[in-house]
Formats: sequence, C-alpha cells, structure tokens
Amino acid sequence: MIITKQKPFEEIAEELSGYDRVFLVGCSLCATACKTGGEEEVKAMKEKLEAVGKTVTGTVVLDPVCNLQKSRRDLRKFSQEISQSDAVLCMACGNGLQTLAEILEDLPIFPANDTLFLGEIKRFGVFEERCIQCGKCLLTSGVGLCPISRCPKGMVNGPCGGAKDGFCEANPEMKCIWLEIYEKLKKMGRLDEFRKIIPPLDHSLRVKPGKYSFRRGVVNDVPSKAS
Ligand code: SF4
Ligand code: SF4
Repeated sequence: MIITKQKPFEEIAEELSGYDRVFLVGCSLCATACKTGGEEEVKAMKEKLEAVGKTVTGTVVLDPVCNLQKSRRDLRKFSQEISQSDAVLCMACGNGLQTLAEILEDLPIFPANDTLFLGEIKRFGVFEERCIQCGKCLLTSGVGLCPISRCPKGMVNGPCGGAKDGFCEANPEMKCIWLEIYEKLKKMGRLDEFRKIIPPLDHSLRVKPGKYSFRRGVVNDVPSKAS
C-alpha cells in the first residue's frame, strides 16, 4: 500500500490561491485506507474549501485513481463539472496525481497529500515502511524481513555492529532488523543462511522512471555515455 498523509490545510489553501472553482478527486484504495482521500475525507475537504470561499464544482472518489484507462472513462461522467473548474485537488498519492495530469491535460492539479512510502498497515492509523522497490527482491532466505527498507543504513549484509542491547544504533526505538533476521533463522533451524553473502544491490534496476510491461518485462532505458 502507498502511504500518504494529508498536507496541513493552510498549505492546501495556499496551493489553491487564485483558483476559485475546484474539483476534488479522492481514491478508493490506498488513500481511503490512509484516511487521506476516501469519501469521508473528500466530503470534509469540500466543507473546508467552501468555508474559505472556494466553489467545489464536484467530487469523485476514483477506483483507483492510478488506473489510467479506467479513470479516464470514469471522469467522463464529470466532464461538465471539470470544464467549470479552475483547478483539481488530488486527494490520492503522487502517482495518482500524475495519472490525473495525463487525463486532464489542461487543468492545474494540486496535491492534497504527501506521499511517504510503500508500507503495511500495522493497525488502524499506524503504517510502517516495508519495501523500497529495489527491483530485485532479495528476500530469498525465507524469513520475510527486508533489511533494505527496515535497516536505517539499508545494510544488505548485516548487522553493522552498532546495535546496543539488540536495539538499532540509528533508531534506538526499534530492534536491529538484522538481529530479528538472525533470531528468525535460528528459530527455523536455518542459521547457515545467515552466513550467505548477499550481492550488492543492482542500482541499474532502479533507474527512473521505472517501466514494466507484461510483454517486454522491465524496461529501463539507461542512456549510454556515448549518446
Ligand atoms: S528486497 Fe527489495 S523488493 Fe524485496 S522487500 Fe526489500 S526493498 Fe522490496
Ligand atoms: S543496528 Fe541493525 S538495523 Fe540499525 S543500522 Fe545497524 S544493522 Fe541496521
């Protein structure tokens, strides 16, 4: 899930200064779970914007925003409201915002949310990062604990040696993830896995913008030095 947090309303109002007629777009998936862009939050945002003198021309919660073809289709039902708008406020993640920008080419689109990370819902209202999308999942030892996203130093082979009483030197609030990996392997009777050296990350797999298709697979067009 993509974790987002809503920007302070003052920041949103500042972004929208000079734009009086605003169309609101929320998202039915991640932003709904994060309570940053579901039906409830879109309704609350409409009321807040109206309270500061904006006209909200319409609202929709797309299912989900980042599905380009589907969103294009779903937004057609709101073409009249959108044509009467000066701007769109996107209550999804940064990815969803860019999907909207692709569809609504001529309208300014502003983010209501800050996009934080890819993570899990620990419990209601608590989210933790679990993956930085390194491009080649290294979780092959079977323990299911990612040191790249969960170790502040991103140690591919750890631990770093700085842990104190089992807690991370960079973040004493949390247990060293490498200690957790060790303990889980021990419990599984597979400590030999701990000695395996994991090769360095292949950063070429993270060339931006990432592109993947069923037909062509991962397509990262790294520009050659000669070009
Ligand atoms: S190894 Fe890479 S792909 Fe796998 S969970 Fe960690 S960051 Fe994500
Ligand atoms: S103590 Fe453990 S979790 Fe913290 S930085 Fe070092 S290896 Fe990473």
